[in-house]
Formats: sequence, structure tokens, C-alpha cells
Amino acid sequence: MLKAQYPLEKFRNIPTPFYYYDLDVLRNTLKEINEQTTGYNFEVHYALKANVNPEVLNIIREAGLGADCVSGGEVQAAVNAGIPSSKIVFAGVGKADWEINLALENDIFCFNAESIPELEVINELATAKNKTASVALRINPNVDAHTHNYITTGLNENKFGINMEDIDKVISVLPDLRNIRMIGIHFHIGSQITDMTAYHNLCVRISEIEDIFASKNIFLQHINVGGGLGINYEHPNHFPVPEFETYFRTFKEHFKLQPGQTLHFELGRSVVAQCGSLISKVLYVKEGSTKNFAILDAGFTDLIRPALYQAYHRIENLSSDLPVEKYDVVGPICESSDVFDKDCYLNKTRRGDIIAIRSAGAYGEIMASQYNLRALPKAYTSDNI
Ligand SMILES: *Cc1c(COP(=O)(O)O)cnc(C)c1O
Repeated sequence: MLKAQYPLEKFRNIPTPFYYYDLDVLRNTLKEINEQTTGYNFEVHYALKANVNPEVLNIIREAGLGADCVSGGEVQAAVNAGIPSSKIVFAGVGKADWEINLALENDIFCFNAESIPELEVINELATAKNKTASVALRINPNVDAHTHNYITTGLNENKFGINMEDIDKVISVLPDLRNIRMIGIHFHIGSQITDMTAYHNLCVRISEIEDIFASKNIFLQHINVGGGLGINYEHPNHFPVPEFETYFRTFKEHFKLQPGQTLHFELGRSVVAQCGSLISKVLYVKEGSTKNFAILDAGFTDLIRPALYQAYHRIENLSSDLPVEKYDVVGPICESSDVFDKDCYLNKTRRGDIIAIRSAGAYGEIMASQYNLRALPKAYTSDNI
């Protein structure tokens, strides 16, 4: 499989840090998604929150994916990118009135609603516009995604979704909400999930939930299983394209679609993570008493995942092929959490070397901040560099 390529000579002339997207890796990824889903009643919505770089978004739109949005800003970005509103879904526990109105004005495909109070507000705002809002109920299936606590979303003590024991209550209020059309159910159990047992368990749980609805004569036309497929952060060169075959096979084998039903997916990380890198320059190599530090010009303002979730990203020195040595790779920000990796083996590193922090395409650029009054880095792609 095609791994990311780096035009090192061009990199030398660009101010660092910057994001770099290898669009061939992205295109291959999308091709694989389409190959694994055609012939089934599967629809994939790209979760915009992972990355909204315009060129990246354009290629995703060209591949025919829909959009999964979690804010009014993302709904607008999806519309602006030319993604048809009939393929836009909108989730989130705290949708503001203006965001709901924006989505109604654009006639999006579906709201993923997370509580009874939210259903009432959507109904009220839709009534005022003389529209009918299509809604899927986000249900908390109480399935453990076995991932980091901060990115587990499908357990009962979580803020997301409607709990299983409240389903009857929600069903009982629906007939009064006359400007809402309930078209299905929605789930999202977490992120960076690599153990397919979690999805298998989700399939089993969905069948049970379908039975609850069936017992009240409600047919669920749309089943949305959310996103969360993980990627290989350790070996981006060996696994540039995530395990979509295994992922979609889990649903093909364990979820029986009824006639007229569509299964929806909301993939973010797995679509864009491996095509992106954060490119940085080494400012200083500092020899400590017990270890050496490689001090980069990139910090957690440019890629916050290591500081926020203790996430691992592979780091490579693109400009050295000297024997490897051990470094703590750190950024310049005045916080001790500004560390990309400890005891990291890099080819011997010197001031001016060019470093790639890999798998940064998802939750990288989009989470950048200006803390310490740092400028937001620019982004380049293999097509425009
Ligand atoms: C974040 C999110 C996704 C995408 O998650 P990934 O782990 O990036 O695939 C999908 N659906 C919802 C509702 C989300 O909040």
C-alpha cells in the first residue's frame, strides 16, 4: 500500500511548523471505503470535526461521502463545501437555537437528537418555520468501547444520548411533536476503537433496541452506528489505510439489515488521520543530565493530542540518516505537558533537522490554538506544495 511521501527539498523552503497532507493517501483511503461499502445499503458520513481543510474536504466530497456535523459552524462548512444537504447529519448534546435553525433552513437529512428537551426545541423551531425535521434518536447503548476514558462516549454515566431505560418515555412523547419525523436511531460509542468486539456488541444491542421499537409498531428506517474506527499510530507506514475491510465486515456479518433499511456510518479519524503530518524544525538539541531533548518549533498548540489524551504519534527525522539516539521530543510552550514523546528513537538529530509528526491529519489542525500568541500554522498538500 502507498505510504506517505515527503518532498524534503520543498519542505526546507517553507516556514515551519506546518501541516502537510498527502492527498494520494487520502484518495486511497476513500477508494477503500467506497469499495467496502458499495453493493450494501451503507452510507458513510465524514465527521467534519476531524479536519476541515478545504482541499481535504473537497476530495472527500468528490468521493461521495456525506457529512456528520456537531455544530452550526460545521453544518455551514459542509454546505459551503458543496456536500448535498440530503447527506448531512447533525449531532451534539448542546445544539443552540441558531444552530438548529441553520440546519432547518438547509433542510439537512437528519438531526441526531440526544434528549427529550432537545426534541421539544427542534419541534418548536421547526413549527415556527412550517417545516418537519427528520430526527434520529441518539441512544446510549451502554457498550464499552475499551478506549481512552476521554473518548469513550457510549456508557451510561456519559453525558451523551438517551439511556436505554428512557426509550419508552421518548416514544410516548413523539406523537405530540408534530413537526418531527422520527426516522431512526443513532449511536456513537467512542473513538480510536481497534477491537471489533465493541462493534459486534453494538450490533447485538441495536437488534435488542429495534425489538423495543418493533413492539410499539415503529419501523426504524435508518440505523446510524456513528464512527470511531481506530488507526495505527505506531506504524503509519505499514498501515496507511485503516482496517476498513474488517470494520465493515463486522457490520455485514453481525447486523441484519431489514428490507428498506439503511445503515449509516460517521467516520472521522479513520478517513483523514494517516494522510496528515505536522512538519516541524528542530530548534535546539539540549543535553540533559540523564537524557537529551529535541526541542521543536511545533508545540501542543499545533497538535494537542499527546498533551490532552497522552496519545502516541510516531515521530521521524526526515533529514537525518545517522544512527538512532534517544530523545525526549518537546515543544516550546511554557507548560510541562508540551511533550510529543519521551524516550523516542530518532536518527541522530541536530539543529535545523526536519521532523514529521505522523498521523496528524485527524484532530490536529482543527484543534490548533494561539496559546502563547503563537500563529496558527499553514497547511500544504501534495497537490499544491
Ligand atoms: C466525533 C464523532 C464522530 C467521529 O469519530 P471518529 O472517532 O473520528 O471516527 C462520529 N459521530 C459523532 C457523533 C461524533 O461526535
